[in-house]
Amino acid sequence: MKDSELLNEISVLKKKRDVTILAHYYQSIEIQNIADFLGDSLELSRIAKEKTDSDYIIFAGVDFMAETASILNQEKHVLLPNPESCCPMAAYLDAKMVREYKKKYPGLPVVTYVNSTAEVKADSDVCCTSSNAVKIVKSIAKEFNVNSVLFGPDSNLGDYAEQKSNIRCIKMPENGHCYVHSQISVEDLKRSRELFTKGLVLVHPECVREVRDLADFVGSTAQMYNRVKNSQIEEDKFIIGTEEGLLQRMAKDFPKKQFYPVRDKLICYNMKKHTLELIKHVLENLDDPMFEVKVPPEIAKKAILPLEKMLQMS
Ligand code: SF4
Repeated sequence: MKDSELLNEISVLKKKRDVTILAHYYQSIEIQNIADFLGDSLELSRIAKEKTDSDYIIFAGVDFMAETASILNQEKHVLLPNPESCCPMAAYLDAKMVREYKKKYPGLPVVTYVNSTAEVKADSDVCCTSSNAVKIVKSIAKEFNVNSVLFGPDSNLGDYAEQKSNIRCIKMPENGHCYVHSQISVEDLKRSRELFTKGLVLVHPECVREVRDLADFVGSTAQMYNRVKNSQIEEDKFIIGTEEGLLQRMAKDFPKKQFYPVRDKLICYNMKKHTLELIKHVLENLDDPMFEVKVPPEIAKKAILPLEKMLQMS
């Protein structure tokens, strides 16, 4: 089937069944283009809760994002086109580990990155995203009147939040990381600066501290996008340190600017498991339980609290 026919069929099916498609910036550009809403984890969490009135939400992202949308919209059907699209970072932390950390550090609040399982969220005081981690850590430490928090599963984001908030973030576990962002090295950054002189370097807080410290800007995907959107006229070259889907989006939206990856093949293969063909198939089979992401009600009832707290705090 030709691409144009496929896109046309998707659009017809979408209208027929009143479906909302949410897509993360790390999806392929073709999928980004058919989405009703595009964003990072925080934006998509808000949209899932506040802006969707369709009965069906197709979530082109990874499993924890679809779980979050389902927790926030328990009466709706949230569908993940490829059920194997999962985030390996989330697997670094389980609920048993969280309970052990809580026992070891009684009285400290638990902050979990949204890139975590529903069970882990259910055992947390508040969630955060890479957009709001610093603010959330500061606010929850103030609320609990403490100088330390438990933070997981991304040790680099925890380190970033600690660096910017002056609140100690005890990592749960020590080595949780994202394989896409943690592969960016100081050498990559220096080499790209030499190659693309005068390029402004933007990196994600999931990068290691040495890389973050050398960058010109550190922010979530949405914050990087907005930094480029609001850039000064003389800033026309950007070196991007995150998954290549964002670079493709920015190149399309800001054709007068130049974008370079900080290194080649910054790809989240887990995000890229969705395809247009699969989305069409889901649209034709909305009630196939294979695609539905449902969190058990007893877990969802607890996990919604730290998510709502995050949305109120951010
Ligand atoms: S980019 Fe990293 S954190 Fe995001 S879904 Fe992929 S592996 Fe997980």
